[in-house]
Amino acid sequence: MPGRILVVDDIPANVRLLEAKLSSEYFDVITASSGLQALEIARAEAPDIVLLDVMMPGMDGFEVCRLLKADPQTTHIPVVMVTALSDVSDRVRGLEAGADDFLTKPVRDVALFARVRSLIRLKMVMDEWRVRQQTSSELGIVPPTSTPEHESYHHARILICEASAIETANLQEVLARDGHELQVAATIPESQKLAAGSEFDLVIVDLALGDDEALRLCSHLRAQEKTRQTPILLIAEEDQTAKLAKSLDLGVNDYLMQPVDRNELLARVRTQIRRRRFQDRLRASYMQSLSMALTDQLTGLYNRNYLMTHLSGLMQRTIASGKALALAMIDVDTFKQVNDTHGHAAGDEVLAELAQRMTHFTRNFDTVARFGGEEFVVVMPDITPELAMLVAERLRLRVADTPMKLKSGLSLPIKISIGVAVSRHQGDRAEDLLSRADQALYAAKRQGRNRVVLANDDAGAVTPAADIVGLKERAEKLDARAEPI
Ligand code: GH3
Ligand code: MG
Ligand code: MG
Repeated sequence: MPGRILVVDDIPANVRLLEAKLSSEYFDVITASSGLQALEIARAEAPDIVLLDVMMPGMDGFEVCRLLKADPQTTHIPVVMVTALSDVSDRVRGLEAGADDFLTKPVRDVALFARVRSLIRLKMVMDEWRVRQQTSSELGIVPPTSTPEHESYHHARILICEASAIETANLQEVLARDGHELQVAATIPESQKLAAGSEFDLVIVDLALGDDEALRLCSHLRAQEKTRQTPILLIAEEDQTAKLAKSLDLGVNDYLMQPVDRNELLARVRTQIRRRRFQDRLRASYMQSLSMALTDQLTGLYNRNYLMTHLSGLMQRTIASGKALALAMIDVDTFKQVNDTHGHAAGDEVLAELAQRMTHFTRNFDTVARFGGEEFVVVMPDITPELAMLVAERLRLRVADTPMKLKSGLSLPIKISIGVAVSRHQGDRAEDLLSRADQALYAAKRQGRNRVVLANDDAGAVTPAADIVGLKERAEKLDARAEPI
């Protein structure tokens, strides 16, 4: 795993020691000898992780950490405090300043490497989300400029996997302070069952839960879709360093040493919950920006962007499986008059109602998109030309049959013209299919509007629906969705 690590310490010998250890594991190391220099380098070089000495003259490690976490440019970089003090209150102070972990001098190799690898993995996940945020803003959607520190850490759902009744009672008492909803499992099978049954914001696992089985539980949680993203906090004994290292490689997010210090427990749980909530928020905002980028706000239909991205692939897949795909290009007849007579807002209402009818009177797996102003496209995979014409004719009838009811009470008769084209040969391109449908639509307009026209395979020739014997009668009889027909 590649990674760039910034080592910060005022004593050159300490810097060199850590640098040597990390370089031997092929990490890329950069160094700083004061807090100020660390801030400068972190901003300029964007390291993947910062190993930060606590005791430094001038600006100490806590302050550097706080400033790194407060700066949007560096807030996502994990910080590990390196301290000679093993004082718990110091650890808590560091965690509250936003530190991701503590290493005690002299730094043990296993702990160092496992911790660094695990934090770099976490950062890779967060970086992925930051890239997506970037995409969202390029699409014109402003993502929330927030940090995990802004998230609430109260009222989370926590699963405690702990065999000892005394330990469980301790954890419950401490965690109740933040108003969490707690569930307890005293065995591995029970833990798996509870985790599979509902969503948790955090799972706390005691390594003492049955020999190697606790690690197996962690790996099981990571393998399941439902719990893959759920943070896991491990509780371990002082002499279990090797197992801890293994657990971090398995994807455990953080650990605590026995005897569990209450404040440290609270601080670490809060960090995990905030991170989890922050990631959820990023995911939700990304999904929203995707949907805004791909759908039309007025009608809720897919937009032209989406259609153009997916049409080629859909055509290729359908044709490769020996089937045909039809495309209907739909244009509202004399729509300008609607706007001119009743206003733009009335026009908008008509478009929204039309979109609903189009969705209703096509098949479930057809794609309906708003192609432009008052133009729509319906893509119908796995269909014959006859069936496509039947669907299109029924849609035309269902629009012409029933006037659009506007909020004002006004009832507007609306008519549409439709050009249908079919694709069934390898090598047919999306642009060509669209252009054939457009020509058929043009023919429908020329022939008097309020009609459906099919583009024949040979260049330019078309067949009006009216020429297909019995089509209108069959379409009129079709009330329900066209699904099986
Ligand atoms: P034709 O039968 O030849 O299609 O006539 P038409 O009036 O529909 O054609 P034209 O292309 O001249 O006019 C389309 C109109 O659609 C003009 C435009 O103002 C209107 N339009 C396009 N997008 C929207 C929209 O989002 N809302 C509203 N209310 N009107 C729109
Ligand atoms: Mg038009
Ligand atoms: Mg029109």
